[in-house]
Amino acid sequence: MLVRVFIGLGSNLDNPKKQLQQAVVALQGIVDTELVKVSGIYVTRPMGPSGQADYLNAVAELQTGLDAVTLLDALQDIEHAQGRRRDGQRWHQRTLDLDMLLYGNQYIDTERLTVPHPGMHARAFVLTPLKELDADISIPGKGHIDELLTKELQGEVLQRLDDSLCPS
Ligand code: ATP
Ligand code: CA
Ligand code: CA
Repeated sequence: MLVRVFIGLGSNLDNPKKQLQQAVVALQGIVDTELVKVSGIYVTRPMGPSGQADYLNAVAELQTGLDAVTLLDALQDIEHAQGRRRDGQRWHQRTLDLDMLLYGNQYIDTERLTVPHPGMHARAFVLTPLKELDADISIPGKGHIDELLTKELQGEVLQRLDDSLCPS
């Protein structure tokens, strides 16, 4: 059975655009998984520690035959391969962050994995690219994207770049 999955991508270190492009290629290489679509690239202000560069964010849609934990392993392997270092500080600058936003309509709550991703319904840099991929999507337990992506939240995204992450 194939499951529809959305992945949030973020980078603000070491050539973020290149990091996102490389991540999309890596997502295509995950076993038993197809890349369906990728959103545009958005420039957003960092959460967390000050003094960080702005982020580039995007969302990718996958179809996968993997269970959620195996897919998380694959995402973390990609983060590590692209030089992600965990220094213990929350929301610190990073070369690549891959968050599993949705895994079908499932709720998952284990030590390693919470789905839907706990912060996604309140983050403009997630909801804006997600809406590009599915303008009619609902977040389980939270509501329709149009209810979540308020005018106020929309104002937080700085810019949509002209560049595309779609693999040629
Ligand atoms: P946030 O999760 O608020 O966006 P973050 O992305 O900076 O913050 P990380 O340091 O990348 O947080 O991840 C910390 C841990 O979160 C990971 O080791 C992972 O096991 C766990 N985690 C829980 N739910 C998810 C999810 N849906 N997607 C990715 N990681 C998750
Ligand atoms: Ca994150
Ligand atoms: Ca993460």
